[in-house]
Amino acid sequence: MGKFHGGGFQAIQEYFQQKSCRFCDNPFSSEGIQLLREEPGVLVVRVTCSSCGHPLGVAIVGTNNRGQKERPNCPADWTKKDIDRLSKNPAITYDDVLSAHEFFTKLGSDWAQHIPRLRRAAQSQ
Ligand SMILES: [Zn+2]
Repeated sequence: MGKFHGGGFQAIQEYFQQKSCRFCDNPFSSEGIQLLREEPGVLVVRVTCSSCGHPLGVAIVGTNNRGQKERPNCPADWTKKDIDRLSKNPAITYDDVLSAHEFFTKLGSDWAQHIPRLRRAAQSQ
């Protein structure tokens, strides 16, 4: 596999190598960590225990793009006010992302009702 920008995937491998499989207690090894998809700011990895073969699951991991230009990595429809207000929050960590992933997988088909309605930005030109 090729190199990844900023060593994000390598950092994920190192992160999971500090964790142990809950079935056999062996630490995960880099062979068990497979990059499924890479997008700007996000890596999707599948983690499998290479000792006993139990899958840990698929993790969606946000990568901190340190040194990126002035605009923080945030949704394109955020206003400047949103950025001022929200960008001071601590960066999302791997654990946050894993928790969020667990949270999303537990949502039912009516998950959208929990999301506050957003005003549609005028799309005309
Ligand atoms: Zn195991």
